[in-house]
Amino acid sequence: MKQSLQQNIPILQNLLYQYEPEKFLQKLSNDFAKSVVFSSSFSFEDQVITHMIAHQQLPIQIFTLDTGRLFAETYSVWNSTLDRYKTSIKAYYPDHALLEPFVLEKGPNAFYKSVENRKDCCYIRKVEPLKRALAGNAIWVTGLRAAHSAARQDLQAIEWDESNQIIKYHPILHWSSEQVVAYIQENNIPYNPLHDKGFVSIGCAPCTRAIKEGEDFRAGRWWWEDANKKECGLHEHK
Ligand code: SF4
Repeated sequence: MKQSLQQNIPILQNLLYQYEPEKFLQKLSNDFAKSVVFSSSFSFEDQVITHMIAHQQLPIQIFTLDTGRLFAETYSVWNSTLDRYKTSIKAYYPDHALLEPFVLEKGPNAFYKSVENRKDCCYIRKVEPLKRALAGNAIWVTGLRAAHSAARQDLQAIEWDESNQIIKYHPILHWSSEQVVAYIQENNIPYNPLHDKGFVSIGCAPCTRAIKEGEDFRAGRWWWEDANKKECGLHEHK
């Protein structure tokens, strides 16, 4: 399975440049029927891709990781998205058998105390549910953009994810922030109102703050930690 899936990478990388993202999503959903999934956190970028999928009624399952610690605004935009597109968004939740002992031993806000606690919390609330969401699928569509961080500059729009044994596709990897905002406005796409209050990368409420002008895109995530340790394990880059 792994070998045969991975063999598609060079073929897809060659084909990629012949298609606009909307059409490439359509092609993938045809060629890998019922095996293409898209993870959304309802960010600006993810809302662009949700629009591309839902507008064309593509058979791509949209899913989200409900960590239990999201902003109220995130649940609102989740609901507005369902209303607008009449589509389904599958939610994956933390495994209670992992979460309950963790909170019992360390408390609800242990992530502020150490990087280790923070990584354990991210593993329980995000990484483990993600693995369940991706299991058995061929393509994982994401809203990553190269401009988000130095670690994302060298990504390829189609790449192999060794830890999850899946092909990743980033349809708007090389879009600018201006392009993303223009697409949202032109298509009247519902978006998280926190974006209008200085929040750019929006995750869990206790671990996300607004950024100031000139700060890095990811500066508002786990701001109390060393910048080099700030990935949550969902996207691992070499
Ligand atoms: Fe836990 Fe914060 Fe990670 Fe959310 S972002 S899973 S609250 S450590």
